[in-house]
Amino acid sequence: MFPPPDLNLFNCGLLITDADRRVLYANSFVLNEYGHDADVISVEGLSALFTRSSLILFDSYLYPMLLQEGVCQELQVMVKTADEERVPVLISVKQDTTGTGHHYWALFDATNRSKLYDELIETREKLQDQAESLANLAKRDALTGLLNRRELSEQFAMLLSQANRADRALSVLLIDIDHFKTINDEYGHQRGDTVLREFGGLLQKSCRTGDVAARYGGEEFVVLLPDTGITDAAKRADRIHEKLSGIEVGGLRFSVSIGISEKKAPVATDAENMIKKADEALYLAKNAGRGCTRLADA
Ligand code: GH3
Ligand code: MG
Ligand code: MG
Repeated sequence: MFPPPDLNLFNCGLLITDADRRVLYANSFVLNEYGHDADVISVEGLSALFTRSSLILFDSYLYPMLLQEGVCQELQVMVKTADEERVPVLISVKQDTTGTGHHYWALFDATNRSKLYDELIETREKLQDQAESLANLAKRDALTGLLNRRELSEQFAMLLSQANRADRALSVLLIDIDHFKTINDEYGHQRGDTVLREFGGLLQKSCRTGDVAARYGGEEFVVLLPDTGITDAAKRADRIHEKLSGIEVGGLRFSVSIGISEKKAPVATDAENMIKKADEALYLAKNAGRGCTRLADA
């Protein structure tokens, strides 16, 4: 019904290869678009036309697939042009059904598809980054940048279960700024905020790897010290008092009271109990005149 087709009119590459992977035919799209000489292709075969990694994919995937299914669709590989440029192409290959062992290849330019795919990957990576920073923001207190109370309880539970399992020590510092209400009243709420922010920074700087510093509430902070007994935790608290006494924060001087409780190495406990004990010790520090530390069970 139709005149015999001119395969050179097709806007895609067409190839016929034999069972030994020799190229028996390449239409003019292949020769013109990729700049290869017909003689070179017929001598060098597929290795003249495709990159090394594509040839590996042919061995490991395309030919086994053809052997099993007789066809392989939509495989993205790289054509190597005569100028050594790389062009992404989608190939679809079908095995001849009459038993000649010939394969019929169609090659479609996938440059745009490849670009779109790259853009998609880039967008996905950006979204992942954004999701990560949002998740990170959700863990932090907006004013001080320290962990918020919700994240503290997660990390507390995790550290405590590790410490309970491995019979290791863990100490909790509960820190409360002294007379903070007066700071607000005398200097204004904004200055109060500056004090909170700067004290948060001081606390963060005093942390070592593995320590957890959080804003527990208004002007109360918690620091978790893994693998630290109460004596060493008290030394860490002393350093906080010391640092604070030497500086003006937000343009004024202030002190903090600290209560410490510990999970002794072989004794299991829970976070609520540890905070309760630290809070009782903090109460003692307030009653002792503020600006000092008291230890639970001391
Ligand atoms: P004490 O030495 O006994 O701890 O006295 P205090 O004044 O520090 O304690 P009190 O609990 O009476 O006051 C805490 C104040 O902290 C009251 C509250 O308005 C203030 N506060 C809580 N959150 C914030 C905040 O985010 N910003 C500011 N500026 N103030 C806050
Ligand atoms: Mg308080
Ligand atoms: Mg206070």
